[in-house]
Amino acid sequence: MPPVLRGESPTLEAPSGGGLPDADLFNFAALLPSGERLRLAELRDYLQAEIRPASVGLWNREEFPTALLPGLAAHGLAELELSGFSRLFRGLAYAEVARADVSVSALVGIHNELILGLIDALGSEEQKARWLPELRSFRALGAFALTEPGHGSDIAGGLATTATRDGGQWVLTGAKRWIGSGTVADVAIVWARDTADGQVKGFLVETDRPGWTASRIENKIGLRIMQNADIELDEVRIPAANALPGASGFAAANEMLRNSRAWVGWQCAGAQLAIFDVARDYAVNRTQFGRPLAKFQLVQEPLARILGNATAALGLMAQIARLQEYGGFDMAHAALAKATTTAQARESASLGRALLGGNGIVTDYEMAKIFNDVEALYTYEGTYEINALIVGRAATGHSAFV
Ligand SMILES: Cc1cc2nc3c(=O)[nH]c(=O)nc-3n(C[C@H](O)[C@H](O)[C@H](O)COP(=O)(O)OP(=O)(O)OC[C@H]3O[C@@H](n4cnc5c(N)ncnc54)[C@H](O)[C@@H]3O)c2cc1C
Repeated sequence: MPPVLRGESPTLEAPSGGGLPDADLFNFAALLPSGERLRLAELRDYLQAEIRPASVGLWNREEFPTALLPGLAAHGLAELELSGFSRLFRGLAYAEVARADVSVSALVGIHNELILGLIDALGSEEQKARWLPELRSFRALGAFALTEPGHGSDIAGGLATTATRDGGQWVLTGAKRWIGSGTVADVAIVWARDTADGQVKGFLVETDRPGWTASRIENKIGLRIMQNADIELDEVRIPAANALPGASGFAAANEMLRNSRAWVGWQCAGAQLAIFDVARDYAVNRTQFGRPLAKFQLVQEPLARILGNATAALGLMAQIARLQEYGGFDMAHAALAKATTTAQARESASLGRALLGGNGIVTDYEMAKIFNDVEALYTYEGTYEINALIVGRAATGHSAFV
């Protein structure tokens, strides 16, 4: 196991020279080896300079960030999962993307965790050769299609989309809902139940196949840059070779969801760093009663609470990264991290929004955007309640799902 801290000690006091400390007050980045630490700092500079300012307009217009994809790819964010970085680096990188914009972090995270990483782990050599080079540079986009209109929380047992083998082909029929990048993806990983053996299996479906229809879900209140879709599969025929060899049962999907649940924890850590960044900046610069808001005790308390939540989320996630790296990481760990950090993020967003007063209601000041995005984190990748039930089952030995 690595030492607790590498490099310089974390700074807990504001520097006397006047500069204010970074929101990562305990300096979790100091746990990284120096090369990764430098890389993270460069990534943060790029994200804060390029992604954060562009995101408010894109979010307001519900616009997919096509123009930002080359820059994200140039900074390694299209191939984070395959680049050999430590788990902690990847987690802190995901947090930095969320700190700049939560929707863009959803795009980057799903792409890495549930598309690129999944095809690499569960795909055939032919599938990897076909898709990984283009996905690694964002020249191709993927979608992860599990949830259905009639089955969300109970998808594991309820999944109704069918896959029927017909000679050298599979025929897929059913409907999917909420599918991220569903209207822009080149390929989707579709989960369907084999009518022969009743097992849920994963299939690569090119989105230009006859019978595939994707329509955008309009008027979302959060993650508005991320395009979510309703998808209809009307006897979509794919070659037998499109079945993912490593995904011949739901256990394979669960394995990937365990890691992607942990990724949502990093999103929440990053969202809370952003909430602190925006709230502190506002408190220091806004004057009421002839003094900066930051001088009022009732303004300092929520700032301290947001900072405490963000720091606790980072600490929890740093330990998850160690479990992922060195072994012992299980679904209850992932569920506890997901449930805890999303609840914290919701509290922090509420405090941050109130701290900005009326300006916390308009997206121009960023906080209203983050406030709404955090609502989606609370619900996707298993709702707060479902993750709490997974933890409760592990902690008591009793399942309370039904
Ligand atoms: C922005 C966004 C992006 C998404 N992206 C994707 C994607 O890319 N791919 C994909 O496949 N899916 C995606 N999803 C789907 C997401 O995973 C589901 O929305 C989620 O699993 C919940 O399912 P549901 O919406 O059908 O809610 P339901 O399952 O209908 O739940 C409704 C409420 O009932 C509660 N509930 C349900 N069962 C129980 C129980 N046993 N005990 C207590 N409470 C219970 C839930 O916690 C929730 O509060 C996305 C969702 C959102 C909002």
